[in-house]
Amino acid sequence: MISYGRQTLSDDDLEAVINNLRTDLITQGPVIKDFENAISEYTQARYVTSTSHGTSALHLACLALGLQAADTVWTSPISFVASANCALYCGATIDFVDINASTLNIDIDLLEDKLKTSKTPPKILIVVHMAGLPCEMQSIHELSRKYGFYIIEDAAHALGAQYLQKPVGSCEFSDLTIFSFHPVKSITTGEGGAVTTNRKALDLSLKKLRNHGLERDFSDSDEHRDEPWYYEQSCLGFNYRLTDFQAALGVSQLKKLDTFIEKRQSIFNYYQQHLNNLPLQLPVDDSASAFHLYIIQLKENSAIRRKALYHYLVKNGIKTNVHYIPIHLQPFYQKLGFRQGDFPVAERYYQRALTLPLFPELSINNCQQICQLIDQFFND
Ligand SMILES: *Cc1c(COP(=O)(O)O)cnc(C)c1O
Repeated sequence: MISYGRQTLSDDDLEAVINNLRTDLITQGPVIKDFENAISEYTQARYVTSTSHGTSALHLACLALGLQAADTVWTSPISFVASANCALYCGATIDFVDINASTLNIDIDLLEDKLKTSKTPPKILIVVHMAGLPCEMQSIHELSRKYGFYIIEDAAHALGAQYLQKPVGSCEFSDLTIFSFHPVKSITTGEGGAVTTNRKALDLSLKKLRNHGLERDFSDSDEHRDEPWYYEQSCLGFNYRLTDFQAALGVSQLKKLDTFIEKRQSIFNYYQQHLNNLPLQLPVDDSASAFHLYIIQLKENSAIRRKALYHYLVKNGIKTNVHYIPIHLQPFYQKLGFRQGDFPVAERYYQRALTLPLFPELSINNCQQICQLIDQFFND
């Protein structure tokens, strides 16, 4: 069975992990710093904090910006639930801005309308670079200046993407960017994530919150300077650390990121060329994407046809997926007061969307087979 996404691991990745496991410090060792430095170099962001998950990266990012119970966060309804849950972890209120039907990213015009008509802007806007396609960060940044809110980029799909010739994660137009290193993402550490920023104070907060709220660095004049065991807890933090052997995998994977993206792009291009005469809406083609997901939408507004296509492909060994069920339609979010009809573009998209397999080791033969099956589904 071919799935929609999977990791690409080779012998050197495995060796990097095994070699690390033979050292003394397999959790908080020196390679964590090496991995963070490598991400910093790749993204051009000044500071990087690695984390246990993309989800913990989102939680820490909200905390570092001081998100509290009286505050509100806005995000896109078409994302993984973690993009919204992080606000609720902090006791804050969540709201959504509908997506643009072609980019699948937050709709800038709707965002501006909502800012104009809301009594208060959100404290934080979390934008999602859906399927690896960067949002229009320049316009979003201008709106943040005008209305006064922070920006977190959820770039779980977008490590390796570019925006205006700069890597996503550079934080040129945002306060913080988060990444995930789950096996289906651009590179993997098993579970894992990172937050990038150019602001030193935010970085210090993130690192403290990642480690129980503890501080260990005291100046030479401090009374505790000769007490190496001494630490102080100055706020309520968490254990959201990545392990050293995961970081070793991350360092090894990051070296191959550009090759992974090139392979993803060639598969994306194959689909674009071979599915274009079927009754499908194909994804926006942008060479600056990280090509994380290849999402087709049936032109026919029919959830039944979409389901039939899903099962037709499964019967033939191809396991597609759907990204995503709109967050506001989840039972938990319905209990918070969201309703069907609140974000109609997202809801219409969800009825028709299907994510085809896309990962670096997917062969062109497989792509050919997938395209032929889809062709047969519509033409038989
Ligand atoms: C994967 C993903 C996350 C969460 O990352 P984890 O590492 O699985 O915790 C958050 N947001 C989006 C958009 C994702 O795709």
